[in-house]
Amino acid sequence: MQKILVTGGAGYIGSHTVVALLQQGYEPVIVDNFSNSHPRVIDRIEQICNQRPSVVDADLRDTDALASIFQTHEIDAVIHFAGLKAVGESVTDPVRYYENNVQGALQLIKVMSQHGCHRLVFSSSATVYGNATRMPINEQAPLQATNPYGWTKLMIEQILRDLCVADPAWRVALLRYFNPVAAHQSGLIGEDPNGIPNNLVPFVAQVAVGRRDHVAVFGGDYDTHDGTGVRDYIHVLDLADAHLSALRALDGLDGCRAFNIGTGNGHSVLDVIRAFSQACGQDIPYQVVDRRPGDVATSYADVSRSQSELAWQAKFDLAQMMQDHWRWQSQNPQGYGSD
Ligand code: NAD
Ligand code: UDP
Repeated sequence: MQKILVTGGAGYIGSHTVVALLQQGYEPVIVDNFSNSHPRVIDRIEQICNQRPSVVDADLRDTDALASIFQTHEIDAVIHFAGLKAVGESVTDPVRYYENNVQGALQLIKVMSQHGCHRLVFSSSATVYGNATRMPINEQAPLQATNPYGWTKLMIEQILRDLCVADPAWRVALLRYFNPVAAHQSGLIGEDPNGIPNNLVPFVAQVAVGRRDHVAVFGGDYDTHDGTGVRDYIHVLDLADAHLSALRALDGLDGCRAFNIGTGNGHSVLDVIRAFSQACGQDIPYQVVDRRPGDVATSYADVSRSQSELAWQAKFDLAQMMQDHWRWQSQNPQGYGSD
């Protein structure tokens, strides 16, 4: 049984990946400081899997705590989710973002090296493509950042590429997620953003459940099929599955390799609102307002590399994503704080 250290394993994507790991016979060990997650998620994981994952409540930058995990457990590979991810907050508090994300990654790599663990799957993001205009986006597209959050992802990717050149023992998969949405089909775990959601689908879900009165659609005059922004939404269960595929593929990689994780299909804001309305059986009120500064019209992935080299492909369509997101939101209207 392989032991996998999952940093940020109590978070949105991490918790779904921990469930997938447990269900496929891996032994996950979570390290999380719960800065953006609720301890109750661990009970929910146990409820789904009939098995409680090991959890260490620690900050990634606490080298002693991290080292003691590697001393206690024989870790085969690490999936590194832990990080801060709010774009706007990264603009107002860049130092916190560089400290948490970049320093956290550096500490992790150092402790892994010291303990002879060289296998890593890293949560990167399509944000590393900046304002790409050629669609679909493949992994060779130019890399650029438009905010400090994006820079942290670019910097960590670069550090990992350099590391793999310097030490051929390393095997690293950089998973560049497009737009993760939805939730586990039990409705027991899902995304629970703090404050006003920045992302479209959590916002739509909070309108549906009555926590907000309407969706502000950011721009209706883009060059897209209905004038609203188009994105590549991916079910978090497909995303979780991509990590297991990446773990299996690690040994065959030549050092560090980037993979797009999306469906390859684009959906507009109005497509999402319509699909969510169908899922929840009620109209979602919305109002078209000005464009959000910095947004691109369209973004969707070329997923051919992930298909051929990771043997992975997304299974769920937009209707299923919205149904599963709605189940989570309707069963937990206030997120993890509701019961
Ligand atoms: P999340 O905030 O739900 O999960 C991150 C987890 O990491 C949280 O539980 C948080 O408490 C923990 N954490 C943060 N800093 C830590 C530290 N220093 N030490 C220990 N734990 C720490 O976010 P998520 O949506 O699950 O995203 C996971 C990863 O995927 C992040 O790196 C994020 O940047 C990346 N990503 C997310 C999206 C998205 O839309 N959700 C898109 C692309 C990439
Ligand atoms: N969007 C919107 N209203 C919102 C949040 C987002 O119209 O309240 C739009 C946004 O302009 C983009 C799409 O929805 O076209 C997805 O935005 P999100 O922030 O979820 O993802 P990202 O832009 O980071 O890909």
